[in-house]
Amino acid sequence: MNIAHIEEHSFIYGPGCRFVIWVQGCSIRCKGCWNREMWSFEDSIILSVNELIAKIADENEFIEGVTLLGGEPLDQYEEVSELLKECRKNGLTTMLFTGYEMPEIYENGMSAILDTTDILITGRYKEDKRTINRQWIGSTNQQIHFISEHYKDYQIDNGNYVELTLNVNGQCTILGFPEEIKEVMRIRS
Ligand code: SF4
Repeated sequence: MNIAHIEEHSFIYGPGCRFVIWVQGCSIRCKGCWNREMWSFEDSIILSVNELIAKIADENEFIEGVTLLGGEPLDQYEEVSELLKECRKNGLTTMLFTGYEMPEIYENGMSAILDTTDILITGRYKEDKRTINRQWIGSTNQQIHFISEHYKDYQIDNGNYVELTLNVNGQCTILGFPEEIKEVMRIRS
């Protein structure tokens, strides 16, 4: 698989602590996308599905599940399907963000992904519909589908989150979509 970035532990891309994978490459290319550097299909971090499964297995005791976003995960449909299937077998929950709409998933013969996904976020990012008032989504047209029974009682927050991580070397990572980066910087100082 072509991977842009991995966070072994994150709390803002789905329920609980999750292993989060940003794939490299997106054919959809929404105007105003925050992750334009993940549009290119040029090789970034290349890992086989089995190599990814092994990395995830190292974190199994700390995580509730795996989340895929990007980039466009369904542009690597075969590998993503296999990965999610293996995660499920290993007792992990699965979440997937895609820019495709639900009808497009069916039209493009990708509906089998629904058998191995607990939560699916669908739809293009539309900058004129941007919101920071709904957990997980970036614009109000996007839809959250609780596909399996696992999270059927999950209550979605009326707010989105930014995650700051400070490592032992003092390096800070910011994840999420802050409304004002200045606000984040103020928190850091
Ligand atoms: S589908 Fe996602 S990664 Fe692709 S352009 Fe839209 S927002 Fe960006």
